[in-house]
Amino acid sequence: MAARPQPYLDDLNPAQREAVELLDGPILMLAGAGTGKTKALTTRIVHLLNTGRARQNEILAVTFTNKAAREMKERVGRLLGQTVEGMPWLGTFHSICVKLLRRHAELAGLKSNFTILDTDDQLRLLKQLVQAAGIDDKRWPARQLSGIIDNWKNRAITPDKVPAADAGAFNHEGPKLYAQYQARLKELNAVDFGDLLLHMVTIFQAHPDVLDQYQRWFKYILVDEYQDTNVAQYLWLRLLAGGHKNICCVGDDDQSIYGWRGAEVGNILRFEKDFEGAHVVRLEQNYRSTPHILAAASSVIRGNAARLGKELWTDKNEGEKVRLIGHWDGEEEARWIGEEIEAMQGGTRGMRGMSLDEMAILVRASHQMRAFEDRFLTIGLPYRVIGGPRFYERMEIRDAMAYFRLVVSPDDDLAFERIVNTPKRGLGDKAQQTIQTVARANGVSLVDGAALAVEQGLIKGKGATELKLLVENLARWSSMTKGQAIIEDSDELLDDGSQVLNTVRFGEPEVSHVELAQIVLDESGYTAMWQNDKTPEAPGRLENLKELVKALEEFDNLQGFLEHVSLIMDNDKGGDGEKVSIMTLHAAKGLEFPAVFLPGWEDGLFPSQRSMDESGLKGLEEERRLAYVGITRAEEICTISFAANRRVFGQWQSSLPSRFIDELDEAHVDVLTPPGLYGGGYGAAGMASPVTQAMAGSDLHEKAAEANVYNSPGWRRLQARSAERPLSQPRETRNTVIDASAISAYTLGERVFHQKFGYGAVVGIEGDKLEIEFEKAGVKKVVAKFICSADD
Ligand code: ATP
Ligand code: MG
Repeated sequence: MAARPQPYLDDLNPAQREAVELLDGPILMLAGAGTGKTKALTTRIVHLLNTGRARQNEILAVTFTNKAAREMKERVGRLLGQTVEGMPWLGTFHSICVKLLRRHAELAGLKSNFTILDTDDQLRLLKQLVQAAGIDDKRWPARQLSGIIDNWKNRAITPDKVPAADAGAFNHEGPKLYAQYQARLKELNAVDFGDLLLHMVTIFQAHPDVLDQYQRWFKYILVDEYQDTNVAQYLWLRLLAGGHKNICCVGDDDQSIYGWRGAEVGNILRFEKDFEGAHVVRLEQNYRSTPHILAAASSVIRGNAARLGKELWTDKNEGEKVRLIGHWDGEEEARWIGEEIEAMQGGTRGMRGMSLDEMAILVRASHQMRAFEDRFLTIGLPYRVIGGPRFYERMEIRDAMAYFRLVVSPDDDLAFERIVNTPKRGLGDKAQQTIQTVARANGVSLVDGAALAVEQGLIKGKGATELKLLVENLARWSSMTKGQAIIEDSDELLDDGSQVLNTVRFGEPEVSHVELAQIVLDESGYTAMWQNDKTPEAPGRLENLKELVKALEEFDNLQGFLEHVSLIMDNDKGGDGEKVSIMTLHAAKGLEFPAVFLPGWEDGLFPSQRSMDESGLKGLEEERRLAYVGITRAEEICTISFAANRRVFGQWQSSLPSRFIDELDEAHVDVLTPPGLYGGGYGAAGMASPVTQAMAGSDLHEKAAEANVYNSPGWRRLQARSAERPLSQPRETRNTVIDASAISAYTLGERVFHQKFGYGAVVGIEGDKLEIEFEKAGVKKVVAKFICSADD
């Protein structure tokens, strides 16, 4: 038989070709971003099929997301010139393990129709066990236990193998409760997410015959994004590849970003030890990004100590430098990006016109998305959110909105149903049914039905007390939306001849709708519910709630805000036209876009506060890898931005540009003049690096004029707004009148040092407080005892 043509090999460079054609034995492709690892992996599948080495269902190919799996299947199909129907074992670890476990459920003590529990079910179960053990679940919340158990499962630790070091977990009850939990799952014929891998590893270890069967069946194993595998996934792969050892893994240690979920970058580093005689292929040519983008990314990742280190090159044209722009605040950032995207569609600053599909905004934290979503809806810019619900569709946002809806309209039964037992008020299905029945019988809303049901003693115990409180609270919060009732005499005559005797109007409410929203979330116990929640998602949910309250500031009252959101949700149905993508940096792994926006590069946001507070550099290094992932998603245009101020709970907080900005090699960065930058106002934002300092430089106005910034609507708006800024803003603190006659150990102009803000010069003295213009942190008032002279 004549050999089939192999045109797909022509698209590869020699190193890739080697990785594709070397079909036998273990092989590791360890290479930087955009070097064609995924492309080589896909081509390898094609080559295996084309050369008849394996049939479609004999190849095990693991990707990180379902989206990646779909894309890989499509690409294989394209290269083969036929649709791929039979690749059942191309998918994520979880999707593949579900299939395997259904086949061998009985070996794990399950039936093949086992159910997969979601997080809620898992928690309910754990809570029952915690309570049954007589443990105070206020002090020891079930969520914490679930985090501990997930962690064990990620490390492939079964209840009988919990290491001595972990014996003290969850007040020393952790290991026992873990065992009980697993037993209970078995009784329920159920598994949780972590079990999928854990059970398969256990089955393979305990049943060599089963393992042997699959070792032979899967002739070739391929794994993308290997740097992000956890211990359980790693063991599972090693077991399966143990026979023929035809395993091909690709990854990049610089892109390991799931350490917080138990991923072990060490897996990739010890591949050569695990698989003797492993062939390591290094790819160095990057096909994705322009030289400037690549160099900027390299300059950041160089800051990490723990890395293998590799150099990338590209033969692409130089292209645009990475663009850096600072903004006055977060809203301005969103506004600017919206305008820039529209400009880029038409082709701006000598760039080609781009389609919205070619642009993406990659954020560090999901709560950042809200500002963009709101802005884009306002200007009618189509967008999609990838890898998670859009802001207003998130569970915690919907819950909070349900409370607000009830405050505005107590008849909103759907809202009531949503929150009546969230947080838990001891109102089970039966109690809720009673409320429904009473409401229907009396033709009243559920809120009123609830009040009646309590009054008539149809609901008892803790549930009744809590329900009564909820109903009373709702009424009280509602009344707070209005001010005092003012009754005025009237002699107005109506058209029908009747006379109005008096009118009631309401004065200004005593609390603003923003404060009220916070009160509702706090007094209802909703905030506390997430504060007590120990799952990894909880901090994110609290951030989103803060973001929600912040969003309210842009509206006059709750009602206006709720209308806005319902319009947004209605708008949601958008068709399949071009759209800008918005997603987190984590979700962007493996993807690429011609134009990428990276907003919010501020210390505390990116790198995250948590990583900065942590002792040691582990967290910070993971954040830096995330920065590297972000920049390397861009093909042609990469725009990094930061805001000098972000509003948190109606308070302006000034923030410092991210330390990662300082690390960017300025030779590859172009500083764009922000529309609102004039008169050195950004000094307050702190100018640390040469790059950020350039923004305050003397050629600033020239640059701005060149870019025609002074004529932009954004500039004009910002100038107008800056005139009406309240005094609380950093810019004004510069002008505070200081009584310099007060006795102080410091003199005006003296150079001083502060633990947190670094070096600065004293610009004002007021009793024991000094006003200092810090070199990095801008002007701040600090207590003198926290300061020392820079000469000390
Ligand atoms: P990441 O680390 O971000 O996952 P990667 O190493 O998997 O990146 P790919 O996504 O496979 O990189 O490839 C990056 C881009 O380069 C893709 O658009 C791909 O089509 C292109 N590419 C890869 N190899 C070649 C090649 N030999 N010739 C031309 N283009 C290539
Ligand atoms: Mg890839």
